[in-house]
Amino acid sequence: MGAARPWTARVITLLPEAFPGILGLSLTGKALEQGLWALETLDLRPFGEGRHRNVDDTPAGGGAGMVLRADVMGRALAEAGEPQQRASWPLIYLSPRGRRFDQAMARRFAAADGVTLICGRFEGLDERVIEHFGIEEVSIGDFVLTGGEIAATALIDATVRLIPRVLGNQASTEEESFSEGLLEHPHYTKPAVWEGRAIPEVLLSGHHAKIAAWRRAEAERLTKERRPDLWRAYCEHHGRDPDRDHEL
Ligand code: SAM
Repeated sequence: MGAARPWTARVITLLPEAFPGILGLSLTGKALEQGLWALETLDLRPFGEGRHRNVDDTPAGGGAGMVLRADVMGRALAEAGEPQQRASWPLIYLSPRGRRFDQAMARRFAAADGVTLICGRFEGLDERVIEHFGIEEVSIGDFVLTGGEIAATALIDATVRLIPRVLGNQASTEEESFSEGLLEHPHYTKPAVWEGRAIPEVLLSGHHAKIAAWRRAEAERLTKERRPDLWRAYCEHHGRDPDRDHEL
């Protein structure tokens, strides 16, 4: 990263007023104010065609909806400084067809100097602009949103919190879900008993090794129960049999 320049999210959108949105609040908002990361929105509209600045047109071959024009997006990308070195500045189109966003991707994006994010609308983006710029497609899940802004916000939030000093407590990102390929263990706090339910005794024992072992066993149990895909990958990585019971 350049000495003076913080990690930057550059967002191309038809709805620039959607940003920073929730990213301007709480920890990400404080970090934005402190200059630990930067947000630049680029309104797609001025790059549109004609008097009405049209950014979309009917799909070639017919069918419902509208498609964002390649030439319009091409002009916006040129303004956004593309092409860049992909390893240090990924160019991403938020799209339900993309590779599923995960914590490893967030770590890769956080290690770059910044990212450029394209928010789609309507039926999406002309394929040629995706091919021409070698754009990476990223999905936040198997469902369809009306536009890419919420997906971009989720991606930025998950990435920014991995940037040093954004979270006060670095240890919390090392222990949380997915950091080791497991879901996180359950949490408890006061009161000691609530609605007849007590906090597991071991957590009140003050015995750090036992607490760590309990948390690890719970993380394994939850992962095995809820996410067999993650559990299999974890067992493979650690040379364990995925069908053997978790170790408590
Ligand atoms: N016609 C597209 C399809 O079937 O794949 C869906 C287009 S969607 C209505 C409009 C825009 O919302 C997309 O271009 C994309 O930017 C965004 N979007 C929708 N769902 C998304 C998801 N799961 N992840 C990331 N972006 C999404």
